[in-house]
Amino acid sequence: MSTLDTRDTLDTRDTLIMMDPQTPIEELPGIGRYFSHKLKRLEIKTVENLIYHFPFRYDDFSKIEKIQNVAPGEKLSVHGVVWQIKNIRTPIGKFVTTATVADQSGAIDIIWFNQPFLTKNIKPGMQISLSGKVELNGNRLRLVSPSYEIIRNTSYQQPVTNNQSPTLHTGRLVPIYPETEGVSSKWIRAKIAQILRSYLKSVKDFIPKEIVTRQKFLNLEEALYKIHFPKNYQEVERARHRLSFNELFLLQFLAIMRKKDRQETKIAPMMKIDAPKISNFVKKLPFKLTRAQLKTTKEILADMQKEAPTNRLLEGDVGSGKTVVAAIAAYVAYLNGFNTLLAAPTEILAFQHQKTLTDILSPLGIKVGIWTGSKKIKGNITCGTHALLSSFKDERQIGLVVVDEQHRFGVAQRAKLFLGQAKDLTPHLLTMTATPIPRTLALTLYGDLDLSVLDEMPAGRQKIATYVVPNYKRADAYKFIEKQIASKRQAFIITPFVEPSETMASVRAATNEYQKLKTKFSSKMKLGLLHGRLKSKEKEKIIREFREGKIDILVATPVVEVGIDVPNAVVMMIESAERFGLAQLHQLRGRVGRGKHQSYCFLFTDSRAENSLKRLKSMEKIHVGFELAEIDLKMRGPGEVFGLKQSGFVNLKIADLSDQGLIATAQAEAKKLVDEDWQLKNYPLLTQKISRLQLELAQPN
Ligand code: ADP
Ligand code: MG
Repeated sequence: MSTLDTRDTLDTRDTLIMMDPQTPIEELPGIGRYFSHKLKRLEIKTVENLIYHFPFRYDDFSKIEKIQNVAPGEKLSVHGVVWQIKNIRTPIGKFVTTATVADQSGAIDIIWFNQPFLTKNIKPGMQISLSGKVELNGNRLRLVSPSYEIIRNTSYQQPVTNNQSPTLHTGRLVPIYPETEGVSSKWIRAKIAQILRSYLKSVKDFIPKEIVTRQKFLNLEEALYKIHFPKNYQEVERARHRLSFNELFLLQFLAIMRKKDRQETKIAPMMKIDAPKISNFVKKLPFKLTRAQLKTTKEILADMQKEAPTNRLLEGDVGSGKTVVAAIAAYVAYLNGFNTLLAAPTEILAFQHQKTLTDILSPLGIKVGIWTGSKKIKGNITCGTHALLSSFKDERQIGLVVVDEQHRFGVAQRAKLFLGQAKDLTPHLLTMTATPIPRTLALTLYGDLDLSVLDEMPAGRQKIATYVVPNYKRADAYKFIEKQIASKRQAFIITPFVEPSETMASVRAATNEYQKLKTKFSSKMKLGLLHGRLKSKEKEKIIREFREGKIDILVATPVVEVGIDVPNAVVMMIESAERFGLAQLHQLRGRVGRGKHQSYCFLFTDSRAENSLKRLKSMEKIHVGFELAEIDLKMRGPGEVFGLKQSGFVNLKIADLSDQGLIATAQAEAKKLVDEDWQLKNYPLLTQKISRLQLELAQPN
């Protein structure tokens, strides 16, 4: 329990000690192992981490009112003297604390619930500042559960003046922080206030002075002070602008450096393009390539002819046909005597790729291997999970690495893919994603990649009839599924998304749902259960049975989002749809409609929130991934949409990825700096900052 007193207010003592930003947090007074352990959950390990733990909003209690002027419904602060305070026990055994506080203009009642310890901290005669909401209780006004702060501990001396606010937790814009159990915003605020001035004394700005001046930014000390303790919202904005720039600038700078490094210091195998062989291969495909597929293939093959390693992102909606583009690139590598690796996020997808590629490449004598926990066969193209391929060793030089569903991996993981390939040449790298990231955003996040977009779907794709289904129509939906199955079709039922990765919680949810559904459907239907925690063999078996039609309904966690291609499946039913992003729902929906039969997607939700219903409803009308992602971007922000948090790709604490203006500024400034002094001879602080960041990024977490 942390009791707060005047020592917590902004420390203005003269004896400011300089403070090393990297000081471990437990070395601060009053933290110790107990709190440092909790703070780890907020990713706070050093003094600097604490200072960079920014508020996500502010409670506006900056209005300090004379007591006689307060009105019901207002959020405000009052300063006064405690007349009396006492605990009352209610008939049902709860505690209520009541108090009276007065200033020169009048007195007001205060009430707190279930905080009997308050009478230990707050005593009659103390000067106190209170912030909260005013209510009418009968014909008297009272402040309900206000936050409080003791201004003067001793008995009444002088009236408190209103215009000077030495307070931290009341009577101002009060910063609210991401919290964790046992660590409240109040606690964080007090700790930051305690060390902020010392910290700012020793802080050195790593952004070149010219940039700060040119862009008219706040200096770093000011920005860090104001983000925590602003006088008004304008100060918040200016601070946020400056601190966001820092992040975006570093992001851009790192990307440019990576690109430069790759292009100037790494050598890839230069591949020859045997045009007749390739067009012959393309002709033999069971379909005609789309214009977009031809165009992106050309871009990739042009890259592979160069000595600088390819680093290209291929973006295309679900079903736009990325795999075949990768297959052509792999074929080119093969013709040049090099092997290819294809990394997928899940085993399910790795197996799927192996099957698809075997179908089209084995007639050419190309061996497609698989590298998973259960099965390890090396081939000319080896498909596998990311984790395992990172330690893959090949006798032959790997000439091409294809990473599917790239948005799920961070930079560090991507870099690791190459560690096992300690050969002279760096492989060409092709990453693929179905996440429709708008071009500008893609360039921000993956500034070191070249971008190709498959902006066209193969002809003849049907629209998947999509419905948001209210709960009372659930029985009808089940009946509909039974009918489809009676006519020999199949269905997916996706259980709620519980955690971003496959945890026991989501496995349990899926298992429960599976049991429930088994009783719901007629015993003639065969149900299967699929989740990421199953053994590989088990997974393979279930997918095989589903593909062969031995399972009618596949109950699955969202792991099937990528990787199952069963043309006979025509219904995709998704539970708790509101928990998914639209792009993700769109990918799930893309699991059906792969054959010739009309397909359906049912979205179930218990949510009554207007916003989330509106969001889901857009799935009924919109069938283009890019458009859905745009809606998601507006409603949920890029961090949520692209799973940036999970990917560990960037650690943006404050920058808003939809701030195109600032992104452009950061891009321009980073580029200018690299052009002028790319070795940063004149910028030791920036060099330091960047080496530290690179170290952090290289660390597994
Ligand atoms: P994604 O981009 O989602 O990875 P896939 O590569 O899995 O898409 O392709 C989806 C389906 O479309 C596959 O069954 C594939 O054989 C088929 N396909 C790919 N290109 C074409 C095309 N040009 N015309 C018709 N079907 C195609
Ligand atoms: Mg794919």
